[in-house]
Amino acid sequence: MSAGNNSQVALVLFGPPGSGKGTQAKILQASLGIPHVSTGDMLREHVQADDEIGREVKAIMQSGRLVPDDLVNRLIEKRISRPDTDGGVLLDGYPRTLEQADKLTGLLRARGVAEVVVHLRVDYNKIIARLSGRRQCPKCGTLYNLASNPPKTEGVCDRDGARLIVREDDREPVIRQRLEAYERQTRPVLDYFARTCPRFYEVEGGDAAPETIAAEIRRLVGKS
Ligand code: AMP
Repeated sequence: MSAGNNSQVALVLFGPPGSGKGTQAKILQASLGIPHVSTGDMLREHVQADDEIGREVKAIMQSGRLVPDDLVNRLIEKRISRPDTDGGVLLDGYPRTLEQADKLTGLLRARGVAEVVVHLRVDYNKIIARLSGRRQCPKCGTLYNLASNPPKTEGVCDRDGARLIVREDDREPVIRQRLEAYERQTRPVLDYFARTCPRFYEVEGGDAAPETIAAEIRRLVGKS
């Protein structure tokens, strides 16, 4: 993101794991025409590549805890300096701590970019059901859910035929740890945005179809 373009917006999709941030981000990046930046995806790519960062974060991610602020802050700073974010950016899974929120606010202020925060509200029981039924294509990243959005053929990606996997951190004990990290470290960020961000919105993310929720978010961002 470079300075001086008033139409830029940093849309922060906020919510606990399993609230639908990734699904919404995939729909919205196409319709809003801004890139989807997910710290979770970026970190998983490093783990996949087995590089220095990947080796540092692998065990932390597998346990469901958050990786150090310094590391994700550096990844985000680098990522939003790339020219494809000049028209705006859609942030998924960042910021997750007050220190990250502070870093983001500083980066955006320096670039004159407005922050729009959308909180996807979803009941906890629903979240656990969603996460434990989640399957992902290891090749193209498409997400499925055994209950609400199953693949056409069991266990196989509709797009490229790859065998679907359960993410290591979508297993029950790790899900609990991720939700605990959310409550302890990330919920304070939500309270902070609710108090300080002039464009903070809440959207019911539980029952409606993903496209309906995305339309509501587009309306709030002002680009429907
Ligand atoms: P996600 O795909 O967003 O649920 O992220 C998967 C995992 O990556 C999390 O459980 C954390 O271990 C790590 N992670 C992703 N984003 C962040 C972040 N902003 N801060 C710290 N850890 C993160």
